[in-house]
Amino acid sequence: MDFSLSSEQEQLVDTVRRFSQAELPEIAREIEETGEPAPRAIIKRYAELGLLGTNIPEALGGGGMTHLDAVLVLEETAKISPAVAFPIFESSFGPILAISHFAPEPLRERVVPKVCAGEMIVAVAMSEPDAGSALTDLKTTAKVDGGKIIINGMKRWCSGAGHSDAYVVYARMSDDPGAKGIGAVLVEKDRDGFTFGKPEHHMGFRGIPSADMYFENVEVPEENLITPAGGFRKLMEAFDLERCGNTTMSLAIAQSALDQALAYVQERKQFGKEIVEFQAVQLKLAEMKMKVDAARLLLYRAVVNAQKGLPSIADSSIAKCFANEMVREVTSTALQLMGGYGYSTEFPLEQKLRDGWGWGIAGGTIDIQKINIASALVGRRFDQRR
Ligand SMILES: Cc1cc2nc3c(=O)[nH]c(=O)nc-3n(C[C@H](O)[C@H](O)[C@H](O)COP(=O)(O)OP(=O)(O)OC[C@H]3O[C@@H](n4cnc5c(N)ncnc54)[C@H](O)[C@@H]3O)c2cc1C
Repeated sequence: MDFSLSSEQEQLVDTVRRFSQAELPEIAREIEETGEPAPRAIIKRYAELGLLGTNIPEALGGGGMTHLDAVLVLEETAKISPAVAFPIFESSFGPILAISHFAPEPLRERVVPKVCAGEMIVAVAMSEPDAGSALTDLKTTAKVDGGKIIINGMKRWCSGAGHSDAYVVYARMSDDPGAKGIGAVLVEKDRDGFTFGKPEHHMGFRGIPSADMYFENVEVPEENLITPAGGFRKLMEAFDLERCGNTTMSLAIAQSALDQALAYVQERKQFGKEIVEFQAVQLKLAEMKMKVDAARLLLYRAVVNAQKGLPSIADSSIAKCFANEMVREVTSTALQLMGGYGYSTEFPLEQKLRDGWGWGIAGGTIDIQKINIASALVGRRFDQRR
């Protein structure tokens, strides 16, 4: 077991860090100010630099690198802001994983290379007003009929709603109850009958648009089928890797909050000395560092164990859950250490706290991850309905 990065990985981190620090802060500031998503020009730039789909096979237009490499790339960009890094998250850890792993070849070849080239953004639409944690209660239907699939229903909280070019829509595709009836279909934004509600405003996540989505007899060709009814388990397997992207976002936000607090406490003077000289401040720094490192190790374990495949539900849920709780604690401590400057919107720390909070809801809540972990421990799923 070796806990150090290879020299190639060190170089990758260095290159992406230098690029991110030079080119992303201004764009991130604009995104935060306007609420507009990352501009297409920067997504093309990511593609040129090989930062999209780092861990997607080369045959599908990706970088053919490891999941750990993709984590390193995402962390360096997300330290600037999760919104500016979101296209990278989507291309390496987002819904195209369900397509690249499980969709029939023609659909895979139609969609994945475009995402890796920065020409197409794909979002995931699972949640509904009455189906959040209880995802298998979803009601949206997708009926295969004479070479077409007809979709009816509504979705909520989709990150990228309205802005993305296409959506991986989880839908009920047979009369089988619960998970058994669920499959997924790709729906392009411009399909007749597909509309969006008003933009939603979150506490953080500015520049990652969200809106209700309505499907009224929306028709797509049967070739847009990702997986038919019965494919829910596969979709969740792909989602195990998406959880590692969520973990990386939490880690990046926490690491950058720690970096900022560390610099601040060595500059800020009170009572005639730098506040880092106070033991209470030192203890906070140490606690932050231990938590960030622990989250990093759990994340690295999940993606390294997965090798080129998909991580286990236990590894990915443990990493996500720990990192989601950790980022709330670390950003909160960093804010406190920076006093009035931490709380001021003129300084970047408060945004980190707001952005950091959301990851413990997105992608399955913290407590749902804990249920996954307990299930893995005892070797069976717990029925939440009985
Ligand atoms: C920033 C953000 C981005 C998102 N992006 C997407 C996206 O791109 N696509 C998408 O489809 N969805 C997305 N979501 C939705 C997200 O997946 C859901 O919000 C999440 O699964 C929780 O569902 P809910 O909000 O309905 O909460 P609920 O399921 O109603 O949960 C409310 C509370 O009850 C607890 N709870 C519920 N059931 C149990 C149980 N059995 N045991 C213990 N506690 C329980 C939960 O832990 C939570 O604390 C996003 C959400 C957020 C906040």
